[in-house]
Formats: sequence, structure tokens, C-alpha cells
Amino acid sequence: MAKNSKKSVELGELTWQEAEKAFKDRKIVILPLGSIEQHGLHLPMNTDLVLGERIAQLTAERIRAVLLPPIPFGQVWSAREFPGVISLMPATLKEVVKDVCRSLARHTVKLIVLISGHQGNLSVLKEAVRELYDEKISTKILFFSYPEIEAMSKGITESEIWRGGTLDSTWHAGEIETSLMLAVKPENCHMERAVIEFPRVPPWYGYTAISWKEINKVGSFGNAKVATPEKGYQLLRKSVDCIVEIIESAWSSYSKENTSQKGRANEL
Ligand SMILES: [Zn+2]
Repeated sequence: MAKNSKKSVELGELTWQEAEKAFKDRKIVILPLGSIEQHGLHLPMNTDLVLGERIAQLTAERIRAVLLPPIPFGQVWSAREFPGVISLMPATLKEVVKDVCRSLARHTVKLIVLISGHQGNLSVLKEAVRELYDEKISTKILFFSYPEIEAMSKGITESEIWRGGTLDSTWHAGEIETSLMLAVKPENCHMERAVIEFPRVPPWYGYTAISWKEINKVGSFGNAKVATPEKGYQLLRKSVDCIVEIIESAWSSYSKENTSQKGRANEL
């Protein structure tokens, strides 16, 4: 089977000539990002990496994109004191992301999609994309980390999402994330060690820097005990649907811009 008939291709497996053709034929490239971060007592350190990569793979198949190898490390300031956590400074991650995007722009990629399995990377990605925009990079860039997941979890999950003293909320290693991992990599989940944890935080939480070690000794937020693979499959499917829908509408708009500039349409 010719490579171009595949639903998606992985850049790392191509020769440079195949890469040249893939970029020309496919126009969209996806970069997955993760983290090596504690995920409570029951999930592995690479949870965000595994989930980010899986969502990126499923998305790439749907839109026939070129898939890049993932960036495994993220900015993990909040949990950096837990054993095993690897944390990049935001500036380090931002520069890596910008260099990857600049490389892809050089290869005439039309649209780059950044998909992070670690929500802590989102502010860094936003800043990187803004700076590239100001550089007038020729490539459009979208960035995601579980868009709308809290809203879409209603009717699927059954426990409350943890909320801090401000509007902050997280489902880190709770029912949502544990369900996703049970759907994607059940063999690495230790459900017998899962706990229910809704840490209490002081009124100034969210208004200063507070390490998670000060508020939550186990490192998970919410009720991981009620997680199931079935919930995870539903959340995974809805997450990919949501990302694909946004990519397709952005691509359609970009293509119209391109058509008016060059007099021809691009199709996914
Ligand atoms: Zn996570």
C-alpha cells in the first residue's frame, strides 16, 4: 500500500523524500506533548504523555495528518517536588515548541496542531503561538489540551470535579483522567491503589505560588475509584471529535483565505 493512502503517517518513520511528499500531500502536522509527572498512587508518571500521544494519533488518522514524535517533558512546577517529576522551565519548553514550528514552516507545512496531554503546558503553548504569530510565521498553529472536557464529562462521569478556593479546578488523576488511562493503557493502572482525595486549600490559594506537596500528599484530585474504561472510551471519542471539529473549521477558513490569495482551494 502506498504511504499516501494511509490515514496518517509518522514523520520519524519516513525518509526525507517521503517526508517532502507527505508535507506536500497532507498539509497538516500534529505535534503531541506530554509530561513526566506524578499522577497519584495509581497512575504512571507518563500518563500525560500516553494520553497526549493517543489523542494525537486518533486525530491524525481522522484528518490524514503527519504525526510528529511527542515532546515527553512539560512544565510541571506545581508537582515538581514529587519523586520522579521532570519539569522544564516554561521558557525552555516555549523555545523548543517555537523551533519545531519554525522547522515545519520552513518545510511549507500549512497548519500545525499542538496537542498536549498535560494541561500545565497550555499557557506555554499559548505564549509560543502568540510569539510565532508576531514573527509572522507562514504557518497557522492551533493548540489544544482537552478542550471542553469538564463540560463533556457531564452525563459520563459521576463524581464531582475538584475545585480550589478560587475558580481553579483540576481532574488530575481523578475520575476523568483515570478513566482515559483505563481506556488507553489499562495494564499500567493500579486501581487497587486509587483513592478519593478532595484537598482543602487556604483562601489565598490561586493568589500566590503553592506547591501541590503543601496541599495534597497523594497527588490526585477527585474520586479516581469510580473511573472505568467505558467512561474513558466515551471521553476519548468526544475529545477527538471536538478537536477534529475545530481543526476542520479552522482549516476551512484558512483555505478560503488561501484561495482568495492564490486562486485555488485546499482540501483536507
Ligand atoms: Zn495528567
